[in-house]
Amino acid sequence: MQPTHPFYLHFNKVYGDRWPALFAALQNSETQVARVNNLGVQDSTAKPWQSFETKEQLPGCFWIPAGQGSHPERRSDEMLDTYVMDPASVMVARALDAQPGDKLLDMCAAPGGKSLILIEAIAEEGEIFCNDLSPERRERLKKVIQQYVPRNVRDRVWVTGKDGVQFGLKEANSFDRILLDAPCSGERHILENPKAQDEWSPRRTEHLATRQYSLLAAALLAVKPGGRIVYSTCSISPAENDDVIRKLLKKKKDAVKLLPADPGVGGEATEFGVAYMPDRSGFGPLYFAVIEKSE
Ligand code: SAM
Repeated sequence: MQPTHPFYLHFNKVYGDRWPALFAALQNSETQVARVNNLGVQDSTAKPWQSFETKEQLPGCFWIPAGQGSHPERRSDEMLDTYVMDPASVMVARALDAQPGDKLLDMCAAPGGKSLILIEAIAEEGEIFCNDLSPERRERLKKVIQQYVPRNVRDRVWVTGKDGVQFGLKEANSFDRILLDAPCSGERHILENPKAQDEWSPRRTEHLATRQYSLLAAALLAVKPGGRIVYSTCSISPAENDDVIRKLLKKKKDAVKLLPADPGVGGEATEFGVAYMPDRSGFGPLYFAVIEKSE
């Protein structure tokens, strides 16, 4: 991409001196972890990923060394042993702090890496609705659930295909916690894809921010009073991140409370949440903020 491209110029303005390093890092492959599938019966045989580095703040995650891969293997109970994902995604899903017995909604769930973490949290009791509007992505989500979630737990996992906005209208005050991992610009993907670069414009980001706000306002209606929402995106655009939260706090000020967000490993505090940026952390981008609905 030329430095005269509108995308480059836009983020150069947003990030200033930081932009060249961030731009370069967005084009490098990100560090990933092999997250152990804690559902079902663990095998006792040694696995290659067990030799990878671990970090205390991110239990169950094995950091895949640069230039090396890690491939999920079938265990003796037929479930896959690990799910390879961005460590920031693990931290976002854990920020929901899902508890056994909760009724959860993963509003934009496919392909399902974060859903698996939420399913583990309620493995003993509770239920989860894993929703995604896209039929193709929903098929991937169902496959992931089949590959990782044993049948006895799967009975409490529901895959639905609604527009997330409908949950606000039709299921008000229904869920203990909601993860809204919203559809976003995904600048890492844009930089890999010349067609997406041609289609990019600041108006597109603004349009997405409007959709994200609608989904977040619906999540706020759908969560129970005192319940928690984690809002996340894989965008570097402040319009899709802190600005969406700012709008919610302004428009629904009596109905919401912003909760502290733990930066965990490699996160940086933003005005309302936490961002994982590839130039500093080696993974992401990912942004999240934690909101509670007032009682
Ligand atoms: N949470 C997923 C994971 O960790 O694997 C990634 C979700 S991805 C960032 C956003 C998802 O939102 C896409 O799968 C897309 O199909 C879905 N989506 C887009 N618009 C939606 C809507 N209005 N309602 C529900 N899902 C939607």
